[in-house]
Amino acid sequence: MKPTNLHHVATAHAFIEALFPAGTTLPAPDAGSLLNEVESWCARQGGLGRGLDALLTVLDARFFLGHRQRFANAPLSERQQFLESLTGIQGSLLQGLSVPFRMALLQDEGVLARLNVPNGVRVPADIERARWRQQITDAGSLEGDDTLEADVVIIGTGAGGAAAALELASQGLAVVVLEEGRYHDRRDFTGRLTEMIPLLYRAMGLTATIGNTVIPVPIGRNVGGTTTINSGTAMAAPPETLARWRALGLRELTDAEMAPYNAEVMEILQVQKADPRYVGEIGNVIRDGANRIGFVQTHDLPRNAVGCDGQGLCQFGCPTDAKQSTNVSYMPRALDAGAFLFTGFKATELLRNGTTIEGVKAEGKTAAGKPVTLTVRARATIVAMGSFLSPVFLMRNGIRLPQLGRQLSIHPAGAVLAHFPDRTFDHSRRIPQGFGVADLAAEGLMFEGGTIPLIGHGMMNPMAGAPYTRFVENYQHTAYFGFMIRDTSRGRVRPGPHPDFPFISYWMNQTDLALFKRGVRELSRMYLAAGAKEVWIPGLRKMGSVRNEQALDAYLNKARSPRDFTITAYHPLGTCQMGVNEKYGVTDSSHQVFGTKGLYVMDGSSVPGPLGVNPQVSIMALATRGARKLGMVLSKN
Ligand SMILES: Cc1cc2nc3c(=O)[nH]c(=O)nc-3n(C[C@H](O)[C@H](O)[C@H](O)COP(=O)(O)OP(=O)(O)OC[C@H]3O[C@@H](n4cnc5c(N)ncnc54)[C@H](O)[C@@H]3O)c2cc1C
Repeated sequence: MKPTNLHHVATAHAFIEALFPAGTTLPAPDAGSLLNEVESWCARQGGLGRGLDALLTVLDARFFLGHRQRFANAPLSERQQFLESLTGIQGSLLQGLSVPFRMALLQDEGVLARLNVPNGVRVPADIERARWRQQITDAGSLEGDDTLEADVVIIGTGAGGAAAALELASQGLAVVVLEEGRYHDRRDFTGRLTEMIPLLYRAMGLTATIGNTVIPVPIGRNVGGTTTINSGTAMAAPPETLARWRALGLRELTDAEMAPYNAEVMEILQVQKADPRYVGEIGNVIRDGANRIGFVQTHDLPRNAVGCDGQGLCQFGCPTDAKQSTNVSYMPRALDAGAFLFTGFKATELLRNGTTIEGVKAEGKTAAGKPVTLTVRARATIVAMGSFLSPVFLMRNGIRLPQLGRQLSIHPAGAVLAHFPDRTFDHSRRIPQGFGVADLAAEGLMFEGGTIPLIGHGMMNPMAGAPYTRFVENYQHTAYFGFMIRDTSRGRVRPGPHPDFPFISYWMNQTDLALFKRGVRELSRMYLAAGAKEVWIPGLRKMGSVRNEQALDAYLNKARSPRDFTITAYHPLGTCQMGVNEKYGVTDSSHQVFGTKGLYVMDGSSVPGPLGVNPQVSIMALATRGARKLGMVLSKN
């Protein structure tokens, strides 16, 4: 049965034809089957159908004003010219309208085959059932409310929560861990993005900051948290970062204090350099370009993915279990050491007795869809929900501290693309982030990158019509590389309209914009020095294109706003940061929340400021340290 949901089917049909004309290797897609695919999504998500219908009406009306005929009745060339001419707000509306149609195109079996992109991976029918899995209880398997007693209850199984769980369970304490997401293993990691994003990401990966630009900052919801969807780069915080922490008054955080914790984390994560075979051609291009412009610190990145065979799917659940995200490293070890994990339970309420916190209540759903409450009474409660949700949870539970939710840093990240007609990057068979250039690390600029899935390539640009088809066709000949900056801007997190969408404000300041532009400039220079035919600089409004350094300088001189670039971020930190007192922080250096007893924060939110390197190792090291000290106190009493 055809799942008809859209009212403006003829306009949608005409829109698809104009948006995706035939190219050299890609034929024009069958508009009817793309529309069927989009309509099947609309049938599942009523809001999507209504939104698309509204945008199709606007498109038709706007076209009618200029052409005195309906969009669907106009000749193809006229429709294409019209789409290519839309800029500003109208361009943004076109972008919004094209999203589901692009997604359908970029997952079409025929398109994938022609671009030599595998669609998904073969998953094992069964895997060995380890003993620790008996320690996992899902809300769906409970029949009614329950109450448990523990020494420690931990909320969240990401970098911070899982590391704390292993440490405390290893000390012989009774540990209960709550996770809102579900436990998945590699039988679930099919590599098909339309299945993996709803399974592993919170809010379909649409969490974002709002300020002088919009910055998407995706986070995970599953056992493993954001580590299940991260890129696997594993680096300890450099000595300069620790020196900055000490300058804030956190004097205990010396190199000698942190070194053993970092070493423990590196061992558990089995960190080693990326295998150059799977870094691939992008490593050669960047090394060559970097050396030609005078950089020398090029390197295969240290990663927590021993035996990785470069399937390009780190951010969608590692299909081989090579990546040591906490779902395969810390959590199994914690459960083996006796911790209990409850999945599908969302912590909602702290149990309070005056200023003492005595545990937490969590809500889930039984298999029959009935609400079920799990109450965990504990001597210590560790909040590890990540930098967006930990502060909001504390606010909703009556914690009032001046720095709560403030001091958000995110390591804004940029990407630059380049066309190398004679090189093939083979994106889907490489490590997504396997190579780095560290010459400007001390100035807060780190270059890291590798590859991108086809869907990312085809979604992150404002093109339409023939230029879009050409761009998609060039996927395997397009280099992708990125950088991130150690930001000085600070954002703020507050409760939002929906629990999954806290209100996150972040305004990029001029210092950071200048550093960001430097990142774009140096990366573009690397490409040009390596022989790129054309360099593309993605922006929210347009995709800049330069072919030489003069054009690059002219382009960057004109770019004055963060909106002139496409900025993303992956490392939110600091919203419950450690500090010497409550004027400067939310917790003390042992992670205890100021003004409370028995309440701790151990995740990215407790990290005091941006690190300048990828954060998972530091979050795990700090959480291990905090949990070790807490465990020693609890064991004595
Ligand atoms: C695409 C991407 C790539 C990245 N690549 C890298 C990389 O290469 N290297 C690196 O070091 N870092 C990387 N990161 C960042 C890194 O993974 C995170 O910084 C880290 O996982 C954060 O740890 P956390 O403990 O603060 O939170 P998370 O890992 O986000 O864990 C929080 C957990 O708490 C759960 N939770 C939240 N609210 C509740 C509730 N009410 N009840 C129960 N459970 C709840 C969530 O579901 C989640 O599982 C990347 C991030 C992304 C998005």
